[in-house]
Amino acid sequence: MSTSSNAQVSVPAQRLLGKVALVTGGASGIGESVTRLFHIHGAKVCIADLQDNLAKQLSESLGGEANVCFYHCDVTLEDDVRGAVDFAVEKFGTLDIIVNNAGISGSPCPDIRDATLSEFDKVFNINVKGVFHGMKHAARIMIPNKKGSIISLASVASTTGGIGIHAYTGSKHAVVGLTKSVAAELGKHGIRANCVSPYAVLTGLALAHLPEDERNDDAVAGFRDFVALNANLQGVELTTVDVANAVLFLASDESRYISGDNLMIDGGFTSVNHSLR
Ligand code: NAD
Repeated sequence: MSTSSNAQVSVPAQRLLGKVALVTGGASGIGESVTRLFHIHGAKVCIADLQDNLAKQLSESLGGEANVCFYHCDVTLEDDVRGAVDFAVEKFGTLDIIVNNAGISGSPCPDIRDATLSEFDKVFNINVKGVFHGMKHAARIMIPNKKGSIISLASVASTTGGIGIHAYTGSKHAVVGLTKSVAAELGKHGIRANCVSPYAVLTGLALAHLPEDERNDDAVAGFRDFVALNANLQGVELTTVDVANAVLFLASDESRYISGDNLMIDGGFTSVNHSLR
């Protein structure tokens, strides 16, 4: 019996060369960084987003439709997601990677008695149904290809609770459950499914988490107090590019044996027992 060998340790300069990716919510925030990084690493990218102008600008800045194309898509609508997947395949020939990134935080509501079903549905429709649609239609293309990587954006709220964010927390726990279920089901087709769980990154979504009168530098600086890696001491601040790098790893063949995982990008936040700090 031979043992596994180190002989082929190498990392290509362009880690997604020849691959085709669809990024939901790929026009801004974390999704924009994913789009940019995937492009740098040689992938053809289709952005599926509501924000046509931002997506067009991003596409143009990355060399136009031949590299990064755009499909107007509301992930809550199955027909839109089906259309986005088909558009990517029509444009670039196949689909190797989907990043189910589109998501919203919903409005914080510190008392569940005041929480409304319409707000709950809004968050679940985008954060959970949207991910389900992405998984379902990516699988349609990936199963016959016998390969693919499905990456979904969860959050530290996929493993922790938080006051006033019932729907968001529930939705991100659900993303992990969907990911595990799909990883179990699609593994036999050579398809991997994983999620990434960032701590707070300063995007429109992170600010929306805060009550309006707390959207200031102090509140944002306060995010740092809870991570194990102290940003003030070590100059470490979570950015959209940090998240995109984790997504890149899970999209690339370097993570070929990783499936069903939820990769925390949280500076140690979820490892800390906050009552013992
Ligand atoms: P963002 O608001 O900056 O960007 C979200 C993007 O998704 C936008 O381009 C928006 O147009 C698009 N989008 C929203 N609803 C859509 C819909 N129905 N259909 C298609 N596109 C839609 O948000 P972000 O901070 O970049 O968040 C991206 C993902 O990362 C989300 O799933 C979020 O829950 C997750 N996340 C963010 C943070 C954070 O602190 N920013 C932390 C943990 C997890």
